[in-house]
Amino acid sequence: MRIGFGYDVHPFEEGRRLILGGVEILGHRGLKGHSDADVLLHALTDALYGSLALGDIGSHFPDTDPKYKNADSSVLLSECYSEILENGYKIKNADITVVAEKPKLQVHIPAIRKRISELLSCSVDTISVKATTSEKMGFVGREEGIAVHAIVLVEENE
Ligand code: MG
Repeated sequence: MRIGFGYDVHPFEEGRRLILGGVEILGHRGLKGHSDADVLLHALTDALYGSLALGDIGSHFPDTDPKYKNADSSVLLSECYSEILENGYKIKNADITVVAEKPKLQVHIPAIRKRISELLSCSVDTISVKATTSEKMGFVGREEGIAVHAIVLVEENE
């Protein structure tokens, strides 16, 4: 087995849709980014790349490349996971913590877990998604953006 860790941050921006874990969260401004700015999937993708020391999401999908403008991060995660599988590994489990003052995410967590499990062809109980606040401290506390921490375990495919 191997372990990987990923971290990402995106600032809020007016006029953008909020996409988290491949799910659109209605009623809140979205995140700024070159792609769809899905900070949750970016952290998870980075964790998967990290597990096999395959670099990071920026080296695979440069934000200077116009090809990735408004890119669907679900596609980036799928491409990343194909590479994990090609290297002879599969996901054992993932644990993801979203740090946001707003919006409240509890009601969205089941849909996010389901979406990720579909993208990685694994069971829902493989994917843990948790939400916390920053207790009003720092940039998250000032509601300037969202931060996500993700950790994954991968195991060799028989
Ligand atoms: Mg990002």
